[in-house]
Amino acid sequence: MTETAMFKALLLNQRDGQTLADLVTLTTADLPPGEVLVAVEYSSLNYKDGLAVTGKGKIVRQFPLVPGIDLAGTVLESAAPAYQPGDRVVLTGWGVGERYWGGYAQRARVRADWLTPLPEKLDSRRAMAIGTAGFTAMLCVLALEQAGVKPDADKPVLVTGASGGVGSVAVALLAHLGYRVTVATGRSENESYLGDLGATGFIHRDIMNQPCRPLEGQIWAGVVDTVGGRVLARALAETDYGGAVAACGLAGGIDLPTTVMPFILRGVKLLGVDSVLCPSEPRRAAWARLACDLSMAVLDRITEIAPLAEVPRLAEAILAGQVRGRMVIDPNA
Ligand code: NDP
Repeated sequence: MTETAMFKALLLNQRDGQTLADLVTLTTADLPPGEVLVAVEYSSLNYKDGLAVTGKGKIVRQFPLVPGIDLAGTVLESAAPAYQPGDRVVLTGWGVGERYWGGYAQRARVRADWLTPLPEKLDSRRAMAIGTAGFTAMLCVLALEQAGVKPDADKPVLVTGASGGVGSVAVALLAHLGYRVTVATGRSENESYLGDLGATGFIHRDIMNQPCRPLEGQIWAGVVDTVGGRVLARALAETDYGGAVAACGLAGGIDLPTTVMPFILRGVKLLGVDSVLCPSEPRRAAWARLACDLSMAVLDRITEIAPLAEVPRLAEAILAGQVRGRMVIDPNA
């Protein structure tokens, strides 16, 4: 049976070169084709959502579009044998909220192979408290683990852009796994927040942003970098012999003013992390690890919930570096 109820959505349109976000009412007939119709319970706000909703990132190419790069909810209808009505699912990546309609709506129709069954231990709100940012943080931690960075290393792991979504979850994950964590943040007022997540060392972002020599003192066993630019260049120059840097973000720019020295003289590994096209098996494994390795009490403390109507304001705020932790969007509020 096909569900035809009307539902609420945030819709992006482009007029006179400007991206406009309007709260509208749609029906399922308006949704793009797909095998699975999902009742969206929560989505989340990520840096990329900020770029999409404000139009500053030029990452949306086709209008109209429902933004929201992730969602969690319950299957209502499915033409795919892998999913039945009532199944709890989570979706991050695959171009959803950029090229395809995403999670800022009460309904989404999507491809079955974009979905991951929600691990037993996670409800849809906590799945989106993790969201794309937390999933990416987990991929970064897994990349460091696979590169041999161990919790008992005699040097700490550095997390940059630490008060943001990826950074906050990375700090919480690493601390829970027993790593010593130092954070680089541009907001000194967030030090107690980050200490509460498990960070024990603090550096101001301005120090990380100073131009550096090709090699500096070896002070990090590993790094999770969400900032890029000079911050990433310094992180590479300061990473221990044989250590690794998991780089996933560019909040500080796309240039990388470094040299080959950290790679050839110290064997530092630069591990690029992309959550969008991560294949299904490692995706499920990462969600399973998130359900076990993240303190839910800590996750709840760093989560705020906002309705769809707040998204345009929050999109500006996240690009201005003013959002802390994780912002969950409730389309049913
Ligand atoms: P947030 O905005 O939540 O966090 C980014 C943090 O970086 C800010 O909170 C701030 O932390 C710091 N920051 C902001 N602006 C600057 C600046 N100009 N220079 C240096 N640091 C800055 O974003 P997310 O955590 O959602 O995403 C972080 C990055 O990771 C983004 O570039 C995003 O596109 C990328 N990303 C990549 C993914 C992938 O698959 N590769 C998936 C998800 C995100 P503080 O105040 O503590 O310094």
